[in-house]
Amino acid sequence: MSQPSMLKAVLACRCPRCRQGEVFTHSFLNLRKFDSMYERCPVCGLYYEVEVGLFWGAMYISYGFSVGIVLAVGVLLYYLANDPPMWVYLTTVAAVIILSTTLLFRYARVLMLYFFSGIKYNPDYSKR
Ligand SMILES: [Zn+2]
Repeated sequence: MSQPSMLKAVLACRCPRCRQGEVFTHSFLNLRKFDSMYERCPVCGLYYEVEVGLFWGAMYISYGFSVGIVLAVGVLLYYLANDPPMWVYLTTVAAVIILSTTLLFRYARVLMLYFFSGIKYNPDYSKR
């Protein structure tokens, strides 16, 4: 079986060790349960919160995403909408951030798992 790439595994919110098990229990479209995570990887059994408070760090990543969205939306509106009035900037940025909240939350946590938890990919844990 081919090994899943890190990019695909991150985008699909898979376990950083086996890259197969899901991290979240429900779809990001489920507004009541989008933040619900498996405590352990359903495939390899990895305990996700390898250190207490690991996911507090995800707030900083999430903040970084938000800053990036503000800048990107600002630049796009400036050039594509010919520098509209301030209320257009504010409502567009607010709408984009609100609509992407569940994805930002999840990818902040997944990036935390992949890059700041010390967990390494190990194909021996994958199902064959
Ligand atoms: Zn796993």
